[in-house]
Amino acid sequence: MANRWGIPEWLEDEVRSRDTECIYCGITMDERISNGGSRKTVATWEHIINDEKIITRENIARCCAACNASKGTKSLLEWFQSNYCKVNGISEDTVADVVKEALKAARKSRAQRR
Ligand SMILES: [Zn+2]
Repeated sequence: MANRWGIPEWLEDEVRSRDTECIYCGITMDERISNGGSRKTVATWEHIINDEKIITRENIARCCAACNASKGTKSLLEWFQSNYCKVNGISEDTVADVVKEALKAARKSRAQRR
């Protein structure tokens, strides 16, 4: 069984228990919109590197709906420059370890391609 993003159940369970807080802004997320609650804090599935083919515990994560909507199809480094990140104090240094690792890996593979 895989969910609609093609994420196998074992990985979904693992990421679900790892990412109870948004990997970007660090808020505690809700599983679903509570009565009168905000949509922004609902947990969403995120591909840290925007490639739906990378389904690994390093690239699949959960972030809040607000961050997901803001990031959209931007790359991480592009997104960190956005107003949303500035206003919310989100940067390379404040994000969860899984994001830091993804950034490191992205830099490495870019260097190797050169
Ligand atoms: Zn967030």
